[in-house]
Amino acid sequence: METQSTSSLSPSDTSLYNNIPLTVLELFASGPSVPYNCTPNASPEYANARDSPVYDNLVDIDTPAEVDLVKYTPLQDIPDTALGVGSMVEVSIPEASENLYGVIRWIGTAQGRKQIMVGVELEEDQDDRTLPTTNGTYKGVRYFKCHDGRALFVTSDRCCTDRRFIELDGKAAANIPTDSKMFGQVECPSVPGAVAPLKIKSLEELEENCGKFKGIQGHHNSCYLDATLFAMFTFTPVFDSLLFRPPEADDIPNYMEVQKVLREEIVNPLRKNVFVRADRVMKLRQLLDKLSSVSGLTSEEKDPEEFLNSLLAQIMRAEPFLKLSSGQDAYFYQLFVEKDERLCFPTVQQLFEQSFHSSDIKLKEVPSCLIIQMPRFGKNFKMYPRILPSQLLDVTDIIEDSPRQCSVCGKLAEYECRDCYGVLQGGVGLESTAFCLKCCDTVHMHARRTNHTPKKLSVPQDFRIMADHMNVPRLYMELFAVVCIETSHYVAFVKAGSGPDAPWCFFDSMADRKGEKNGYNIPEMITVPDLPLWLSEEGARVVNETSTNDKMLPEHAKRLFCDAYMCMYQSTDVMMYR
Ligand SMILES: [Zn+2]
Ligand SMILES: [Zn+2]
Repeated sequence: METQSTSSLSPSDTSLYNNIPLTVLELFASGPSVPYNCTPNASPEYANARDSPVYDNLVDIDTPAEVDLVKYTPLQDIPDTALGVGSMVEVSIPEASENLYGVIRWIGTAQGRKQIMVGVELEEDQDDRTLPTTNGTYKGVRYFKCHDGRALFVTSDRCCTDRRFIELDGKAAANIPTDSKMFGQVECPSVPGAVAPLKIKSLEELEENCGKFKGIQGHHNSCYLDATLFAMFTFTPVFDSLLFRPPEADDIPNYMEVQKVLREEIVNPLRKNVFVRADRVMKLRQLLDKLSSVSGLTSEEKDPEEFLNSLLAQIMRAEPFLKLSSGQDAYFYQLFVEKDERLCFPTVQQLFEQSFHSSDIKLKEVPSCLIIQMPRFGKNFKMYPRILPSQLLDVTDIIEDSPRQCSVCGKLAEYECRDCYGVLQGGVGLESTAFCLKCCDTVHMHARRTNHTPKKLSVPQDFRIMADHMNVPRLYMELFAVVCIETSHYVAFVKAGSGPDAPWCFFDSMADRKGEKNGYNIPEMITVPDLPLWLSEEGARVVNETSTNDKMLPEHAKRLFCDAYMCMYQSTDVMMYR
């Protein structure tokens, strides 16, 4: 049996990435540097990581007097046309000087009208006061809900297919020409086959791929989806099984169609030409909106987890990344922690351990991908003003049956005591809960710890045999993307390579805009040369301490620390196959 290295490295040490064995990085990390405790209030209901928190960000504009939908039977389609609820339409009415664009939200015979009426949610706020817009009511009856000034009710003959998305519905209006001017005249051909992620070796090389009209073009509140897709697919193959899994009997009839749009119209063009035009993304949005229970995906402000739920869980039926010891599966992990006043600038590692400790749950195996949602809810509540996304996430202590080290003597641990979490001097985090038999007994002879209930750990038999001859390896995952939100707008920091020195890029699908109404957004990718520094323990400490208020932080450091919404980690296996 080969004896492993005994060097003691910290996760920020660059030599750590050399010769990484397949799953495991064999070394001992120094662990989080800020000591902390956690209030040991274990609540089993925290275990349900799959449930999203309740968001309060949807404006409720219902007033009881208006709700009277039942009397007026809605239709799904406008008879004798290809238009239906959810269709993107152009509306021409005499009151407006130019065509208006929007999505059909309601069709039927409205109060006081004999003809079929169509309720359209317009894509832009209308400042033309002469237009008869509402927030979804018509003559005092509510037919749908939207922001004030966005709803327009017209007779059905006033609507036709939105010419910008004409390819979406070739049957409906094949005779109307597509106008690529609508989106800035940058072509975006679909790319068949399999295209590998962008392979970037240096900051200079990344720089060459950056600029305006780079990444995914945003349109009509699509940033939640643009930022997420960009993070998932541009530089890593970790989600690629989504693009290639053959259909199975249980799949929905449109499975292949959705997969093809995702692969050939979005991911492949993104990797080959580093640009995806907004109408391509709109195709996916329309499919998701139509095929999943998540509604409003073509027009409303949504959150990344709603998009991922629709795409991963409902439509693509992806294998959940996280297998929990409770028997549940999940696609992401929401950090549930109680605020610890001693932590002023927590790392994701610290919060992750607190969250797992309080939920008393483990993962059955190291996931290929770990998407962690930060402790913030809705648009306004952030538990911590700043959080440092850990570059490497040590998952050793949350993997069921993974061999661990006694926190006292360093031998193979055979017991775990959750009550000892953070109480022993020198021990931090979950690492401090593992003991060998001897140390477990000694530690619990202390009067204050006699009421603890250590549990036996199960250690794989093979490992037990070689335990005396090697160090206990620790398991790490690498940060590759941070999706951030600031005032309802999502953007992403994405790592264009692997290792602590790989360059990072910042992506905003709506960095700039051309034209006012009916104009288009200009997406942009830029390099962020200082990002590796800000993510390092020392660099983060310095930036944090020298910028006492958020306005003093460099712009991108502020977004990274203050606005992080979701951190994406990948297993080091994936790094190896790049
Ligand atoms: Zn021991
Ligand atoms: Zn204990």
